[in-house]
Amino acid sequence: MELNQNARVDTSQVDDRRGSGGGGGLGGIPIPIGGGRGGIVGIVVAVLVALVGGGLGLNAATNGGDEPQGDNTSLAQKCSADDALQQLDCRNALYVNSIQAYWQKALPEAFGERYRPSRTVFFSQGVNTACGQADSGVGPFYCPADDLVYIDLTFYQVLARQLGAEGEFAQPYVLAHEYGHHVQDLLGTEAQMRRQQQRDPDNANALSVKLELQADCYAGAWAKNATGTADSGGQKIFTSISEQDIQQAVDTAEKIGDDAISDRANRPVNPDEFTHGSSAQRKEWFTRGYTTGDPKSCDTFSGAL
Ligand SMILES: [Zn+2]
Repeated sequence: MELNQNARVDTSQVDDRRGSGGGGGLGGIPIPIGGGRGGIVGIVVAVLVALVGGGLGLNAATNGGDEPQGDNTSLAQKCSADDALQQLDCRNALYVNSIQAYWQKALPEAFGERYRPSRTVFFSQGVNTACGQADSGVGPFYCPADDLVYIDLTFYQVLARQLGAEGEFAQPYVLAHEYGHHVQDLLGTEAQMRRQQQRDPDNANALSVKLELQADCYAGAWAKNATGTADSGGQKIFTSISEQDIQQAVDTAEKIGDDAISDRANRPVNPDEFTHGSSAQRKEWFTRGYTTGDPKSCDTFSGAL
């Protein structure tokens, strides 16, 4: 993967709340996301859509509130410097720019809907969201109540060290998955799926899997079209994306499959408890999005998976 060194990073698409004392764990009781079935899991799953479902020792807390927007001044300065793309945060802001540039065009083309941009919040340790308070342990997530993507960038170290997903392209894959949830929010897919879960609680997990696999497929569709995306000045964002990069995204999708996570935690693998899909399914749906390059091919909801 090669980024165009002349591409301009638009930091207005991120909200830098690192170091603002986001308050993780201060105001609420941490609730483990993956500890078991039933009410608590239901609550957390209902309020945020995370990249991985549990088993990483993940914690989230509810009862948070809104937090004022962070101060982007220093990030904006840093990301306008010549060496901006050497910096993890600037690169990630540029990935966000590419993903949103893609949907700006693809959403009207594929679904006849206008794309509404959403910011990504960089936080450290903990953050208050309209979905409640969350700490870094939940991993990156999308909050449908405030339409924002949240990520503690140290998550990539977890991906690399604990999950063995080391390639750089894992990063835009993760962000593209979360923006997939934003698209589902814009299209009403997410709300529809929550209503279905309430009508049919026995299938709540299976429905969640469909939502997650669709987000993986949307990420694949972005990856296919990423080299066609440009910054606000019309400069290409990626000069190249290789098959090896795509393989890194596929590897990451596999490594955060529910069965892989259960395995790693030495827990029995129980497909009924899957909320994000097996490794094989996550690989399959990312690949489908990538192969077709068409988000319309990402219909995980009609028919069996
Ligand atoms: Zn997700």
